[in-house]
Amino acid sequence: MRKDVRILLVGEPKVGKTSLIMSLVSEEFPDVVPYRAEEITIPADVTPERVPTHIVDYSEAEQTDEQLSSEISKANVICIVYAVNNKKSIEKVTNHWIPLINENTDKDSRVPIILVGNKSDLVEHSSMETILPIMNQYTEIETCVECSAKNLKNISELFYYAQKAVLHPTGPLYCPEDKEMKPACIKALTRIFKISDMGNDGILNDNELNFFQRTCFNAPLQAQALEDVKNVVRKNVIDGVRDNGLTLKGFLFLHTLFIQRGRHETTWTVLRRFGYDDDLELHQDYLFPFTLKIPPGCTTELNHNAYLFLQSVFDKHDKDRDCALSPEELKDLFDVFPYLPWGPDVNNTVCTNDQGWITYQGYLSQWTLTTYLDVQRCLEYLGYLGYSIVSEQESQAAAITVTRDKKIDLQKKQTQRSVFRCNVFGDRGSGKSGFLQAFLGRNLVRQNAINEEHVSYYAISTTYVYGQEKYLLLHEVVPDIDVLSDAELTCDIVCLVYDSSNPHSFEYCARIFKHYFLDGKAPCMMIAAKSDLQEARQLYALSPLEFCRAHKMPPPQGFTCNTADAPCRDIYTKLATMAMHPHARLRCMCNCNKCTFCQLQNFLNSELVQTVKAKLYTAVLSRHMTQADLGSSTFWLKASVGATMFAVLGFAMYRMLLKQR
Ligand code: GDP
Ligand code: MG
Repeated sequence: MRKDVRILLVGEPKVGKTSLIMSLVSEEFPDVVPYRAEEITIPADVTPERVPTHIVDYSEAEQTDEQLSSEISKANVICIVYAVNNKKSIEKVTNHWIPLINENTDKDSRVPIILVGNKSDLVEHSSMETILPIMNQYTEIETCVECSAKNLKNISELFYYAQKAVLHPTGPLYCPEDKEMKPACIKALTRIFKISDMGNDGILNDNELNFFQRTCFNAPLQAQALEDVKNVVRKNVIDGVRDNGLTLKGFLFLHTLFIQRGRHETTWTVLRRFGYDDDLELHQDYLFPFTLKIPPGCTTELNHNAYLFLQSVFDKHDKDRDCALSPEELKDLFDVFPYLPWGPDVNNTVCTNDQGWITYQGYLSQWTLTTYLDVQRCLEYLGYLGYSIVSEQESQAAAITVTRDKKIDLQKKQTQRSVFRCNVFGDRGSGKSGFLQAFLGRNLVRQNAINEEHVSYYAISTTYVYGQEKYLLLHEVVPDIDVLSDAELTCDIVCLVYDSSNPHSFEYCARIFKHYFLDGKAPCMMIAAKSDLQEARQLYALSPLEFCRAHKMPPPQGFTCNTADAPCRDIYTKLATMAMHPHARLRCMCNCNKCTFCQLQNFLNSELVQTVKAKLYTAVLSRHMTQADLGSSTFWLKASVGATMFAVLGFAMYRMLLKQR
């Protein structure tokens, strides 16, 4: 909001400028006035819009042309005063004052002008007939008012209009020539309509209208008022009201009506509440509430409330309820954005369905990724979706959790994080991309269909660590770089991938490991990719198995994505487990079915546990949910309560097993 408003009064001598100011201040007509009134400042709390207001007089007798020019350029709004009984003073409005003002102000940011016809007590007729053509000719004229300093008629109104012209300018909203709202205003209101239309049926029903009212004006509409509004729209526009709710057409009509009736502060209130500034751009403070300081060792994640919001956005746009967003549905979702935030590479970063459409899981994964990698961008996107408004939060930043320093997690041997980063290293052609894509459930055949321009160096999805759902973020590190940056080295687990069929492939992994990860800060895992092919003897001093043993790493994990169905996911669960419990020193990462790890995994997958899990879900379900909820994704969130209990159970068992050893 503005800091203050500066109102300047100009006009021919003796039209009553000084008298108007004195009448406003003393609430009585002064018989004798000086040439020029002192500048006065009205404190914020006594003005209708609660902004400090300066009122500045002008007198030809006391001021030079330079002083006048300087005052004009300083003013936020200018009142050109004429006397209704003085024809010459009216003529001067167009042939002197308006040109002079235009000369002294920027073409792009014209100050609003108010035409003031003073001394209305002296005449029977109104000057409006002469004034209206002038108003139509000059768009910078905001409004006109007839008043009398003597009768104190319309004095407060005059200054209120002046204040309003600055605080709630018509210019950006409305084009008086066309008698229509301007395109930028229509665009902003359309976005606001879409955000408020929670059901996404193109209609604001009573609930949505009330939410809108409460959000913008801090009070719901009374039932009768709601009906009245709809009736006005019904009477004036075809298809403005449908199924007893307001359509976009009706919504836009209402705002045009507000503006035409001089109530554009109503429209401004709505626009500002939804984050728009005076130029109808989304405000920087709204999109980028503050620069989040992420201390080293900390990461950014979305909190529960933010996931709930994103879920509701998904549900709103997944119209056919297939738990995936078709290209049309996705386009509709991003309609409230000024640009398309997700390129085609996103489809290769997260899970998609058979048609290649981003699934519910994939959608949340992509949000998780953006939050993790670029939290400012995430805040911006949330702003476009209207997160802070719909979720009634102070700012977009309320969506973010900054996790505690990883060092503390390691000390305390536990973590609250839900996203773990795994950097994947390997020589060219070793199978890194295949390893990333396999995490998204894609076998080699499906990977070969990927357009080269749409490749992604990230893959993110969820996996269960002792029954708890966690995000695992895989990042493929390009092998050609000489010096790796901190971002490429900092992660929760390192994956070293070599092509088991290529004798030259392992050497790179060994080199990277010795160069960067010998200090043992991050747990490392060796992946022997392409295990479906004939294994080659690696040309290196140590065999991969010996190398791993020498450096206290789990043995190389055979992996292939050349499968008939979706590739096996076990390896990703292992990675996430190691990332989450780096202190646990799981000695075996095999599938031997004999060691603790294998036994635990087997136990977690056993039928008995699965039945318990299913029972837990049913219990949660029947208690909290109606059948209708099942289709919506909130179901899964509630069901995860069951998963948490299960996780606690699982972890206790695991600890017990470890102790036994
Ligand atoms: P300025 O030169 O524009 O500042 O005009 P002044 O305020 O000095 O007023 C010029 C003369 O018009 C004074 O004699 C005022 O008393 C008189 N005057 C100002 N306003 C009114 C009004 O509303 N009605 C009448 N009848 N006279 C007014
Ligand atoms: Mg004067």
